[in-house]
Amino acid sequence: MLSLYNSLTRREEPPFDPDQNNVRLFVCGPTVYDYLHIGNARTYIFFDFFAKLLRARGYDVNYLQNITDIDDKIIKRAGEEHIEPSKLAERFTEAYFEDMKALGVTAVSEYANATDFIAQIVAQVTRLIDRGFAYKIDGDGWYFDIAKDESYGKLSGRTVAQAEDGVSRIDEAVNKRNKGDFCLWKFSVEGEPSWPSTIGAGRPGWHIEDTAISEFYFGPQYEIHGGGVDLKFPHHEAEIAQQESASGLVPFVRTWMHVGALTVDGKKMSKSVGNFVTIRDFLAEHPAIVLRWIVLSHHYRSPLDYSERAVAQAVSEIENLYNLSLQAREEKKNDPQNSIRGDALPWKEKFDAALDDDLNTPKAISIIFEMLKDKQLTAHSKFALMDSFDELLGMNIVQILGQTDAISEKDLKKFEEYKAHRANKQFIQSDALRKELEGLGYVIKDSAEGSTITKKFL
Ligand code: AMP
Repeated sequence: MLSLYNSLTRREEPPFDPDQNNVRLFVCGPTVYDYLHIGNARTYIFFDFFAKLLRARGYDVNYLQNITDIDDKIIKRAGEEHIEPSKLAERFTEAYFEDMKALGVTAVSEYANATDFIAQIVAQVTRLIDRGFAYKIDGDGWYFDIAKDESYGKLSGRTVAQAEDGVSRIDEAVNKRNKGDFCLWKFSVEGEPSWPSTIGAGRPGWHIEDTAISEFYFGPQYEIHGGGVDLKFPHHEAEIAQQESASGLVPFVRTWMHVGALTVDGKKMSKSVGNFVTIRDFLAEHPAIVLRWIVLSHHYRSPLDYSERAVAQAVSEIENLYNLSLQAREEKKNDPQNSIRGDALPWKEKFDAALDDDLNTPKAISIIFEMLKDKQLTAHSKFALMDSFDELLGMNIVQILGQTDAISEKDLKKFEEYKAHRANKQFIQSDALRKELEGLGYVIKDSAEGSTITKKFL
């Protein structure tokens, strides 16, 4: 049975009831003011894998993501470019969708733009005002009073007094009751986007869009909320405070999942530090599978240090796996035993157990290698296992193997000539043909058993 580390209870536990089939999953989407970097991609690739794994296991997963399309950063960047903030947000929302598609991140069921939920946001702030959790600062906005919420700080383990270090620009105000109070609704400022409302013309604070959107789709309580670990405080703490105070229902979310940071030389990859590689720049150099491999070959909660060496290691591991799969496929062709036998089951159980244990993907990957090297396992079982594990991890290596069948007649003929020259020890001719085939994107391997030709993988 699946057990996940819950950041709220700080232990591993089942993320939902055993008889439950519907899973509601919310993951914080991006603020669309620029192209995303591969640190952001780590979080989205991981949750893509997670949602698809649950679906493969028969769960009906409703995976919701908000898009922050109104925010200080968007307003600032739009001002620099002399365009409307909404136009800038539209441009980078499109870019985000393109990047996710290119990465094979396709599991999200619904995307929701913050600006499409202004009515729900205003309604939630109004409930917080009516229930005594929010107060007004004239000429500024509506703020959440964290001292009114007795359980504030339960996710991050901070007290009201310690809550000040996560204050972002929109939350800065001199007249706040507590330093950690955060803005729910910012009154309109000349030249900035604003929406008319019963609580005054203005725009949403940073945290309120997520709870207004999730309440609209999921109701006041749901199973799983995820994001990068940087969002645990103040963002997720604020979400809990808002939703539990607005509804009076606890817990808002049963399981909180946090993905560790992608770092460079130990520092979190971020726009503000400038140590980032955009998804686009990464994909211009490497196939998407390389990033997926880097992400899944590390445990999702650990920090992951990105470097050229990490890329080279991923490429070499993928190639190893590809070659072992290729070997299994070839063995399968010559194996008269053409059905999967009971010998596959223990491997399947081992693989599933690794994932059940807080999604231990690095262990699951090492099990695939062990399985492919198991001399007792029949080729059919090996290949079938590889096919299913590969699909669960979303690597598509087996699919790529399928494509290697598509070697043209003409090139196959050249390969036959190559083999004939080698057999006759005509190495000048065989070397020339090898070079020509390699130039056409093939890999030729010679061994005691003979020569093989495959399409180059990476
Ligand atoms: P943002 O647009 O900054 O809200 O980021 C979008 C998502 O990417 C959030 O879930 C962040 O937690 C996550 N994220 C940002 N930087 C990193 C990083 N260096 N490593 C992993 N996840 C990150």
